Amino acid sequence: MPARFRSTFFGDLDVDVTFDAPIGKMTHFVIGGQADALVRPRSADALSLLLRRCHDSQVPFRVLGNGANLLVDDIGIDGIVVKLDHDCFKQTRYHTTDQGEALHAMSGADMATTLMETVRHGLDGLTAMTGIPASIGGAVRMNAGGKYGCISDTLDTITCLSTTGELITHTKQNIQFGYRESRIAEPIILSATFTLQHCDPIPIRDKVKEIFAWKKSCQPLADSSAGCAFKNPLLPDGTRMSAGKLIDNAGLKGLSVGGASISKQHANFIVTNANATARNVIDLMQTVRERVKDKTQIHLQNEVVTWSRDPEVIR
Ligand SMILES: Cc1cc2nc3c(=O)[nH]c(=O)nc-3n(C[C@H](O)[C@H](O)[C@H](O)COP(=O)(O)OP(=O)(O)OC[C@H]3O[C@@H](n4cnc5c(N)ncnc54)[C@H](O)[C@@H]3O)c2cc1C
Repeated sequence: MPARFRSTFFGDLDVDVTFDAPIGKMTHFVIGGQADALVRPRSADALSLLLRRCHDSQVPFRVLGNGANLLVDDIGIDGIVVKLDHDCFKQTRYHTTDQGEALHAMSGADMATTLMETVRHGLDGLTAMTGIPASIGGAVRMNAGGKYGCISDTLDTITCLSTTGELITHTKQNIQFGYRESRIAEPIILSATFTLQHCDPIPIRDKVKEIFAWKKSCQPLADSSAGCAFKNPLLPDGTRMSAGKLIDNAGLKGLSVGGASISKQHANFIVTNANATARNVIDLMQTVRERVKDKTQIHLQNEVVTWSRDPEVIR
């Protein structure tokens, strides 16, 4: 970001700004470099004005959720990273409709907190999100989920901000959800609504416990990771094959590059220790892709989102 922007760009906006912000350390990997600026708007209006200004001045910006699916390169990233963690972006509210109970969640709300809130209220519909660290916005953007379902199952609408800061609402029918992706033209998801069903809280709580126990038994939840590193590849018959199994069958469990290694518990998890760098993870992922391709002819696609100043790194 040119020096002249630093002094004038944010001056009149209701935002908190940190220059040369260590955003890599804000991800679940806890590795990687800086962004030119981390900006925390104090209202949706301030966020809207910020987007318009970025658009008019051609300053790149990205949005950071909980950082659970992100790898930030050691050399950092250009432009602004927006973090929606002021209270106004974390609120949830409920109201009764003909279809059930509607949950309106701002995109900065924490998924685990929101899930437990719905369980306490005896509301079913978010249990598939058990054990998935996320903000509401990040979960919608990634269409987070797994064998128990995904976030789009109970989603009704999302409200977004366009690149020029206008509010736009989409119903679920107008959004293309895919496997670990959603096609949303706007850069920022501001809030989402879900339809939940009233149920006895005890069986919902039991379901959450069951899913969590299953995840704990097969995923390295105590280690630093970004969940599954690669998407499960699509087979010609339309089903998906386990990327973890492909990596395991290639004999790669336990393989390390520097402080990054393939988890011995789940071969699709790359875990890092305190000495790891983002390049270790990038290089390890490249090796995995090459070895699996050599053995099976299958190309593994990243599930982890990578941010870098170097366009070559983002594949
Ligand atoms: C231990 C562990 C287990 C996991 N298990 C699963 C699992 O079972 N299933 C699964 O799907 N994922 C899993 N993940 C990955 C991760 O939890 C999900 O991808 C989650 O949706 C990421 O949400 P986030 O808020 O952390 O997004 P981030 O990682 O911060 O960002 C991910 C992407 O979403 C974008 N984004 C974030 N917020 C917004 C917003 N408000 N508007 C627009 N775009 C936004 C970011 O720009 C980025 O492109 C796991 C991760 C870990 C660490």
